[in-house]
Amino acid sequence: MKPVIALVGRPNVGKSTLFNRLTKSRDAIVADFAGLTRDRHYGTGKQGKHEYIVIDTGGFEPDASSGIYREMARQTQQAVAEADVVVFVVDARAGLSGQDHDIAQYLRRLGKQCLLVANKAEGMLEGVQLSEFYELGLGEVYPVSAAHGQGIRGLVELALERL
Ligand code: GDP
Ligand code: MG
Repeated sequence: MKPVIALVGRPNVGKSTLFNRLTKSRDAIVADFAGLTRDRHYGTGKQGKHEYIVIDTGGFEPDASSGIYREMARQTQQAVAEADVVVFVVDARAGLSGQDHDIAQYLRRLGKQCLLVANKAEGMLEGVQLSEFYELGLGEVYPVSAAHGQGIRGLVELALERL
């Protein structure tokens, strides 16, 4: 079984853009993996000879109790359960938000392998602008730019090292 990487994070941080960077084929693969649920986006990617599966999720709102937010939280929790590594995406430009804190708390409680990624970090002075994300208590903050394709190879390497 290929390792499964789940992308989680609040809406609009760039998860789907990152998913597209990390994968070549999409969705088609679902049928090949019994046990993975069908209501999310799956794709496969390959770096060197290492193949992996990526799950994109719609969003995350752990404390919301109704409607679309509940559904997004449910999907994300399921993706996290299926994942070998969770990539938690935050927005380097928007900065830290309350929702980021909620998600971090949820992930810390699970005790799952987790990689904190600050997207939209193109052209930023990493050390300075990214320091606030250490507050989340998830260790290193890894800057990438999904839109510009920066830091993607390194991210995959780090994720696969965590297996
Ligand atoms: P999602 O809701 O987390 O899936 O986020 P999307 O992938 O839909 O992206 C949300 C917005 O952020 C879109 O307008 C993207 O073009 C933009 N975006 C994604 N990645 C980057 C990036 O690396 N840099 C910048 N500046 N914008 C990005
Ligand atoms: Mg999306």
